[in-house]
Amino acid sequence: MYRSHSCGQLRTSDINKEVTLAGWVQKTRDKGFMIWVDLRDRYGITQLIFDEERTPKDVVEKAKTLGREFVIQIKGTVIERESKNKNIPTGEIEILVRELNILNESIVPPFTIEDETDGGEDIRMKYRYLDIRRNPVKNSLMFRHQVAMQVRNYLSQEGFIEVETPYLIKSTPEGARDFVVPSRMNEGQFYALPQSPQTFKQLLMVGGMDKYFQIVKCFRDEDLRADRQPEFTQIDCEMAFVEQEDILNIFEGLTRNLIKEIKGIEIGDFPRMTYDEAMKIYGNDKPDIRFGMKFGELNTVAQHKDFKVFNDAELVVGIAVPGGASYTRKEIDKLIDWVKRPQVGALGMIYVKCNEDGTYKSSVDKFYDQDDLAKWASTTGAKAGDLICVLSGPTHKVRAQLSALRMELAERLDLRNPEEFAPLWVVDFPLLEWDEETERYHAMHHPFTSPKPEDIPLLDSKPGDVRANAYDLVLNGNEIGGGSIRIHDKETQALMFDHLGFTPEEAKAQFGFLMDAFQYGAPPHGGLAFGFDRLVAILGGQETIRDFIAFPKNNSGRDVMIDAPANIDATQLKELNIKLDL
Ligand code: ASP
Repeated sequence: MYRSHSCGQLRTSDINKEVTLAGWVQKTRDKGFMIWVDLRDRYGITQLIFDEERTPKDVVEKAKTLGREFVIQIKGTVIERESKNKNIPTGEIEILVRELNILNESIVPPFTIEDETDGGEDIRMKYRYLDIRRNPVKNSLMFRHQVAMQVRNYLSQEGFIEVETPYLIKSTPEGARDFVVPSRMNEGQFYALPQSPQTFKQLLMVGGMDKYFQIVKCFRDEDLRADRQPEFTQIDCEMAFVEQEDILNIFEGLTRNLIKEIKGIEIGDFPRMTYDEAMKIYGNDKPDIRFGMKFGELNTVAQHKDFKVFNDAELVVGIAVPGGASYTRKEIDKLIDWVKRPQVGALGMIYVKCNEDGTYKSSVDKFYDQDDLAKWASTTGAKAGDLICVLSGPTHKVRAQLSALRMELAERLDLRNPEEFAPLWVVDFPLLEWDEETERYHAMHHPFTSPKPEDIPLLDSKPGDVRANAYDLVLNGNEIGGGSIRIHDKETQALMFDHLGFTPEEAKAQFGFLMDAFQYGAPPHGGLAFGFDRLVAILGGQETIRDFIAFPKNNSGRDVMIDAPANIDATQLKELNIKLDL
């Protein structure tokens, strides 16, 4: 038996017990006549004491050789500690050691295994197994487990069945590139790793599974943006015989339950907003509604004077920054520089200070009088003491720019409280999205999403106006889930492929299996998927998902610990019939 107790278990009620513990040496303090060792395992830290008077001499000698991260086993007696440590649960006792067994030695670790470590990101990634010994990472992984268990329990209780779908599949177009896997047995052919189990979960509905879920890895070969992983985890769900309302209700229930069980916070009905409203009010389809600064569109109150910049603009829109009237000229200039950065891309910014005395001072006083500015204030909801920031230009661009500014200001003003949870459903997404590069419409969600039946006639005349039965669940400005009601008949699916520019032959070659299945009594169905890593990170009050993933990839998509991706040898390539022309 390696141990009778864990390192987080013993209390004063265990005093005088004979115990066996095993774990890692966190640190040692050698006072000559006495040696203390902090012994650590997943459950906590217990202090060991080797005492010249009470511990056998050879054991004391051996204890002197212990280094950080040695793995040891000890036997001893639980005694009351003289100087108690109130900060840890085992802080009132220590173990008077009688026997010491070194199970394995350790070379000096490249960084300290402490909550606050001296190791930088790269080195911690390379030695991730050591990083996992640290509380912040260990706790994050345990937290992830807790969320996963809660999800599984909740969905099982609601009658969902977890079904595994294959990883070696054929490409599913979801907007990203596929990772591909060469097939040795089928020369020259490739599998693709799923971007999501989308078509399979739909086929499970055709198969009569009724309610499916899976906590599942998905793979997308995208250019890596900050905090994206090429492989990530979804809570993937699908239900048959449902309308959008049924799905929103079930998954609102799941999310509410998670926030309650995990965070102890009760949340009422989730607000809903259409995509059009979200874009108009927040310039963003995943607005953070924990704070205000709603957009005020100023065209009607700003395009009647001689200010050409505004008169020429498709949209003039502003937000009121709480307390911003006190910003100095320099601070405002910095803000203007910020919106002009290439990442944001505004050409400039007009501002209005709403003075405490009820007057206004703007950067366009030459063109606008106090009455005009008062109207801007009421449209943006600005109060005395606020600063109105106004951008103008093409609608699409300006909204994105002002949204970026809104988020930046919220960050600076500390309005994004990680302990507050503000979920929001965004519904009625457009079905199609114009892609500048390919000059074609693409499915905004994916090609299996059902158009709103009443909008189908617009498919030919105004494809961009067709709305989909598609929805996203947004939490604190992050899209944590998204889904749709699916097309479940062959004709509509064929029509959709046609509008996405597939020839009937191409559609058949890629998705014949799905359209065939639709001919055998496919039930109406729909579903959604949550981004599990992100959901866990948000519930854990963190911005980055990396610490919630045991072995994440770095920003270049590399696993620096195992050094992947890597070359494969010539024999392997030959077997796979791949000729590299490097
Ligand atoms: N497969 C979709 C996705 O990965 C989710 C869904 O429509 O259920 O975004």
